Parts: sequence; structure tokens; C-alpha cells
Amino acid sequence: MNVADSYRVAAALENLGYTPTNLPKEADVIVLNTCVVRESAEQKAIGRLTTLKKLKDNNPSLVLSLMGCMVGIHDPVALRKKYPYVDVFAQPSDPGPLINHLQGKNTMHAEYRRVVDILDSEFAYTLPTSKEATTVSAFLPIIYGCSHACSYCIIPLRRGREISRSPHEILKDARALAERGVKEITLLGQIVDRYGQDQPGYPTLDQLLREIHQIEGLLRIRFLTSHPNWMTDAIMDTVAELPKVMPYIELPNQSGDNTVLRNMRRGYTIEKYMRIIEKIRNRLGEVSIATDIIVGFPGETVEQFENTVQVLQELNPDMTHLARYSPRPGTYSAEKMEDDVPPEEKMRRFRIIEKMQETFSSTINSTYLGRSVPILFEDKSKTRWRGRTPTNKIVFVENDIDLRGKIRNVTINWAGPWSMLGEVEE
Ligand code: SAM
Repeated sequence: MNVADSYRVAAALENLGYTPTNLPKEADVIVLNTCVVRESAEQKAIGRLTTLKKLKDNNPSLVLSLMGCMVGIHDPVALRKKYPYVDVFAQPSDPGPLINHLQGKNTMHAEYRRVVDILDSEFAYTLPTSKEATTVSAFLPIIYGCSHACSYCIIPLRRGREISRSPHEILKDARALAERGVKEITLLGQIVDRYGQDQPGYPTLDQLLREIHQIEGLLRIRFLTSHPNWMTDAIMDTVAELPKVMPYIELPNQSGDNTVLRNMRRGYTIEKYMRIIEKIRNRLGEVSIATDIIVGFPGETVEQFENTVQVLQELNPDMTHLARYSPRPGTYSAEKMEDDVPPEEKMRRFRIIEKMQETFSSTINSTYLGRSVPILFEDKSKTRWRGRTPTNKIVFVENDIDLRGKIRNVTINWAGPWSMLGEVEE
């Protein structure tokens, strides 16, 4: 989501005549787009802000903008005090305050626009021209914010309540991306399957997918992140039926223990989660399943962690996004629950699952050996092209011809846990 938000700002800056540079000391404007989902991400942003202060001291005409979840959706009074050298504070997704500032409009308070205005504003979710020639796969947010309130998650506090973008705006952006050469679009939402449910008259995710499927030039469509309570039969049917919608489902379970899930306020049991996975696999056949797991949630005992290990053995996921629990200010778990799993124990649990995932991925990927798989190629580094299978696995091939943005059948001849090698078929 931050990648898409950053391109949105970059494109808006381009409209004002700015061009990109890789060297911060050459820049007239620097935007630091921030994530605070875990403390480590926030610390990284604070570190960068400190480095940028030196640049600003040396070059007072440099415009510095702090954007994203570190700023949040309310006027960041404390941040303004703490970082007086930052010129513009902007909430997630909103290029407005920076563009106004650069145009000499002082809009200190109007900066905190209604979220709906930010979503369907004059700023499209598009690519800056500097990225046009190289971006095969782009992200397109379709829902802003989240209303679920998992006990550990800071996102609803920083990105606000869930608001679906209008289908008209989404289709306009998707068509524009396709016209700029994008071949694959990933639709984004914190609970993407809930698309449209907060706005009367909007289509559902499966209906939206059908509309996007008709866009000429697009070759592949993905969507994430799903939630066990909102994944519907209609969504599964749409993935099964539409050739451009890829068989890749990100459905986090977060824990394999029902008490921990209740404390996380996830709203489902692990039995329900596994029933949905079974249904997805029965309906879609070869499908890639990705999950998210948090280890060391407050009160998570060794037995409860072992339950997660057992569930993962049964789930056999293609990918696990793993995190060690990090208390975030303002969340229920940070305010009311003790962060009582010591860091070394969180690390031990993390490493166990990391190792397990390596084995799952090796075994799953080895089933691709000798098979012919349609790969959409994205990029070349040195002599190797990098592309993805429909199930979102990375494949490299050595080839001199220009494969960017093309789908070619590839015979897989080597498979490791994190990538595969193959040869383009004649
Ligand atoms: N919205 C999706 C969901 O609820 O399943 C996932 C998106 S969330 C922004 C990305 C991941 O960050 C979560 O799935 C969770 O595993 C992780 N995460 C969120 N808050 C966290 C925290 N306080 N500590 C550690 N990991 C966290």
C-alpha cells in the first residue's frame, strides 16, 4: 500500500515538473513515507528522519515531507513539535498537503481532509513516468483503512476506518495503469474481500474482479489481504473461472491456538480457518496459500505456540509472513496486556517457523520440476530475467531476448525454497 501511495505522490510531483534523483543531497523535495505496523519499522523511519535533518541543516530550501502511518489521520501535534524541521506532514495516501505547500498554498488545517476526499481526489493511483517503462506489476488500493480492530494492530488507528474506493475511480486507475504498460495489478485492502460492503450500491470484490478482468492489456490480476470471515464462495468461484485472476490467496491465520486468536480478537476459530482453506483448495485445485503468523503474542504459552506449529504442518503454506509480536501504542494489547514473552523466546519461536517454512517451500517447489509453467516476466538483473508463476513463485531464466511484460511457458529445471530456475520453451 505504501508503494502505491509513494507512486501516487511521485506522479503528482511530476505533474509539477519535478524529476526523480537517487541522491538525497541533490533533491529539492524528499518525502519519507512511513510504516509503523511494528516498532522496528517506526525506528527505521525515525533514524531516516534524523539523517535527513543534517541535509536540511545544510540546505534550508530542501522541502521535507513526512507521510503515512507515522503521521496518521489526525493533526500530528506532537510530531510537529518533535520534528520542527519537517515542512509538511501528510496522512497516508494523500499527496495534497505537499502539492499545496509546493504551490505556495498554506493549508495547515485544510491538510486534514476527510479520508473520502483523499481517496477520490484529483490524484490518481498511477505510475510516475520514470517507472512506466519498467513496472510490469503494480499495486492498486481499493479499500482505505480498516474497521476490524484486531487487539494488536495499529492500522485502524493510523489509516482510519474502512472506506471502499468508488468502482468508477478504481476502474479509471486500472485502465490508466494498463495503458501505461502495466500487465499485472494487485488490488489491495486490509480485508480486501470486504470490498464494497461499507458503501451501499457498490459492487462486491468478485463483481469488481469481473469488471477489471475486461480491461484490455492486463494479463494478470491478484488481490490481498483476505480474512477468513469474509472470503466468500463467489470470490473463490471468480478466481476459479476467470483466467486472468491468479490462484494466489493471502489468508492470514496469525495463530493456530483458539485462546490466542480470541485474545487477538481475530473473530474466528482455527477450525473455521482450516475449513475455509479446505474449501479454497477443493474449489481452486492448484492454488498458492500465504499466511501471516505473529509469534510471542501476550500470554502465548509454549503449548499454544506448539498448536500453531501443528496447524502449520497441516496447512502446508506456500508462504508465511512471520512477525514477532511488537506492542503498538494505543492498541488494546499494548494498553491492557503484558508483553510477557521474552525477546529470546520470541526469536526461538520465529526461527522454528522460519525453518518449517523453508521445508514447506522446498517441497512444494520441487513439485514444479520438469513442468511447463506460464511465467510473467518483470525484470532483468545482469543476465537473468525474473518472473512469476500464476501461484506467485519467483522463477529466473537466462535469456537474451526482451521478455519484460511477456508471458512465456518455461520448463522448470531447478527448484529451491525461495526461487526456481527454468528455460523458456521455443
Ligand atoms: N489486514 C491483514 C490481516 O488482518 O490479516 C494483514 C495486514 S497487516 C497490516 C500485516 C501483518 O502485520 C499482520 O498480518 C500481522 O501479522 C502483522 N502485525 C500487525 N500488527 C502487529 C504487531 N503489533 N506485532 C507484530 N506483527 C504485527
